[in-house]
Amino acid sequence: MATAISDVKQSKDAKQPKPLPAPNSDFYQLAETLNAEELALVKQVRAFMESKVAPIINKYWADDAFPFELLPAFKELNIGGLGLEGYGCKGGSQKLFGFVMMELARIDPSFSTFFGVHDGLAMGSIYLDGSEEQKQKWLPQMARLEKIGCFGLTEPLVGSGAAGGLTTTAKREGDTWVINGEKRWIGNAPWCDLSIIWARDLADNQVKGFIVENKTTPGFSVEKIEHKIALKVVQNGHITLKDCRVPEANRLQAGNSFRDTARVLRMTRFMVGWMATGCQMGAYENALLYSQQRQQFGKPIGSFQLIQDLLAKMLANITASQCMLLRLADLDDEGKLTDQHAALSKGFCTARTRETVAWAREVFGGNGIVADYNVARFFADSEALYSYEGTYQMQNLIVGKAVTGFSAFV
Ligand SMILES: Cc1cc2nc3c(=O)[nH]c(=O)nc-3n(C[C@H](O)[C@H](O)[C@H](O)COP(=O)(O)OP(=O)(O)OC[C@H]3O[C@@H](n4cnc5c(N)ncnc54)[C@H](O)[C@@H]3O)c2cc1C
Repeated sequence: MATAISDVKQSKDAKQPKPLPAPNSDFYQLAETLNAEELALVKQVRAFMESKVAPIINKYWADDAFPFELLPAFKELNIGGLGLEGYGCKGGSQKLFGFVMMELARIDPSFSTFFGVHDGLAMGSIYLDGSEEQKQKWLPQMARLEKIGCFGLTEPLVGSGAAGGLTTTAKREGDTWVINGEKRWIGNAPWCDLSIIWARDLADNQVKGFIVENKTTPGFSVEKIEHKIALKVVQNGHITLKDCRVPEANRLQAGNSFRDTARVLRMTRFMVGWMATGCQMGAYENALLYSQQRQQFGKPIGSFQLIQDLLAKMLANITASQCMLLRLADLDDEGKLTDQHAALSKGFCTARTRETVAWAREVFGGNGIVADYNVARFFADSEALYSYEGTYQMQNLIVGKAVTGFSAFV
């Protein structure tokens, strides 16, 4: 699919001899807080996303398809297990993990979601809730991206209320667990290798996590969710578990209640904040370029005050989100990240993202609703970021409970 921005540029270059500032969504130079090695990795990820993903992603988005052709080159980046230490994982600080997620989403929020589900939710569950033996067995192959994972918590009838209401059940029979239920919206599920399935133990009513091998477990089936209007590149599945027999060795040995599930979500919600910020950066940079090139009334639209107002508001949202996340990354690296910290950033950054992408789309006028111009993809994808991994309301209820001392969930 042709990039419309470069088409506009060619036709207008002759009228713009003066070089214009290149789009830069790191206005406060936060990348300077990375060390040389970290910066080199972030640049490598940017180069991969710009050279390999950007040229083809609109077509995959329009077709509701995942770009499997990119996986061999993506593996070569060697970033599997970013943010996790040992077990063949890339490791690195939470700040580095965040910057990388932001870079992925700056070009495509679906691609960052695919990686976030695998690295954060699936590997993170084993890392935080698995036994030493389970970590040794699963994490190295997942870090090499030889086995891709997904995370099955949400159900058709239970979304926001997952903490207390899971209907998927697990019943122990000797050294085997029998799992029954359904999971909905599960990213990567239609094609990946293993699922972390959260189910309620019938014996003690507590939520427990199980590693279920998608392709070899009888009774496990997945149907791809069709007709999505956001994150269309991510393949989301509706999983059915019918008398699935899973060995006790595959029960996450350090996950004994929903509190242990929430530890995983704390880490990944914070990462959604970074992804949302990357989504804003992509939309803003596209809008800025377009405003420098698109002419109306004989002038570039970027020279109009009202367009500059939109651009300044976008940049303020991006910069506020980045600064918030940077501080949170330090808190996380110091072991001080709380559920309410993560919730505040997820809610705030995704809400700012909805504003930013809407203003970016506005800058494109009619072209803003055509997938070829990129901005429509960011616009639509922001809706999913706003609602997944806990809706905006859920994040604010977590913060509200922490600051008032009163739970207002029900
Ligand atoms: C693209 C995408 C990818 C996803 N990937 C995954 C995945 O990989 N794994 C996974 O397990 N899940 C995944 N999800 C599920 C996601 O986490 C849920 O959609 C989300 O938690 C909300 O649940 P729900 O859709 O059932 O909405 P509901 O819980 O039904 O909420 C509907 C509305 O009611 C509001 N609401 C609910 N309760 C309250 C209350 N007490 N007070 C005020 N308002 C309330 C909500 O905020 C929301 O606005 C994904 C979802 C999407 C869209």
